[in-house]
Amino acid sequence: MHPMVKPALRRGWRDLNTVQFGMTPAHALTLGPMDTATGSFLDLLDGTRGLPLLREEGRRMDLPDGHVDLLVRRLTRAGLVDDARGGGADADALRARPGALDRLRPDLAALSLVTPGPGEAMGLLAARRALRVQVRGAGRVGAVIASLLAGAGVGEVDVRDGGRVEPDDVAPGGLPAEAIGERRDEAARRAARRSAPDRPPRRTPGPSADPEPAGFSLVVLAPRDDVAVHAPDPAAAQPLLASGIPHLYAGVVEATGVVGPLVLPGETGCAGCLQQERVDRDPTWPRLVAQWRSGRRRPVRACDLALATTVAGLAAAHALAFLDGSGQSSAGARWEVSAPAFQWHARPVWAHPACPCGAADHPPEGPAEEGEGEHPAEDGGAHATMGEQRHSQELGRTAHTARPAGTWRAHV
Ligand SMILES: [Zn+2]
Repeated sequence: MHPMVKPALRRGWRDLNTVQFGMTPAHALTLGPMDTATGSFLDLLDGTRGLPLLREEGRRMDLPDGHVDLLVRRLTRAGLVDDARGGGADADALRARPGALDRLRPDLAALSLVTPGPGEAMGLLAARRALRVQVRGAGRVGAVIASLLAGAGVGEVDVRDGGRVEPDDVAPGGLPAEAIGERRDEAARRAARRSAPDRPPRRTPGPSADPEPAGFSLVVLAPRDDVAVHAPDPAAAQPLLASGIPHLYAGVVEATGVVGPLVLPGETGCAGCLQQERVDRDPTWPRLVAQWRSGRRRPVRACDLALATTVAGLAAAHALAFLDGSGQSSAGARWEVSAPAFQWHARPVWAHPACPCGAADHPPEGPAEEGEGEHPAEDGGAHATMGEQRHSQELGRTAHTARPAGTWRAHV
């Protein structure tokens, strides 16, 4: 291991013997007591030295025997250490492609803040290259999601849609103006490829006519049709449910952006559950949906570029968090944001007992929380502080109330 204090976190001294790593409540930690010599030693933890060399440097700086190992161990347990050479064979392969890695360094740094273990972020970034994701819908939202996922390192992003690119499909980061008149799916796949010039070679021989979603880690449903966003058709997701493929809804309807639910088939609420619940609340719901779907007049859709891009960004973030295994906060929930206030809020999508997806038979769990259950508490304070650190909103409060004197602690 070549330990490196996570370079994504800015460092500052709160007083003579307390160091703060990071600036924001979500990811910052303070550690102490730490003497000045140890503090200076932190500069050497930059990933260029292995432990034997670090111990040698420690002796040279008159640090006590075993101090370097203790320091690295404590920093590691606090989730502050990355391994400049860790992450496994796939990570080594990615490091061997400096062009690809240079482009993704900010993404890697972001991953390092949501993964506690040394080398874990690099391992996840490298693992993205083997993933296959399909995006259905290549309008202002879907084409941008596809580009974001490809740009973030997802190895294969397939896009499905019909028709040809219309002028109002054009969006920054999505379909370019030059693509007007071209096949929508092809133009969107090309846009996605352009976002990842260093992508790995395709493992499958190009898009087939078979829309069967087998082999995809995730399917993103981002319809251009606003009724399909507001009232997703359970029948359209049936093959995904049958094959057990996780899928995520996203789109814009009448200046309201929607992200979710992320459906884990048989485990969390699906489009059918959502529909059943709406019928329970409003018996006229099916009549309205039938009228919306059959409307002869196709109104101009209220889907401004800024909102469409916001939705695409959040959907891609939720998709990546799920693919990386670091969060499922849109499972069992629909995140909605409306102009002009633009405040996201989540509406629950409960598993419905009348829905054939079977999610209601699953042991009831609320919408999953990021990080929940991933890091079982171990003895020692540092792990506990890491737990507090990951639940950002409670960080300040819990840390202040449970701070054993003289131990390493976390608060901002
Ligand atoms: Zn269901």
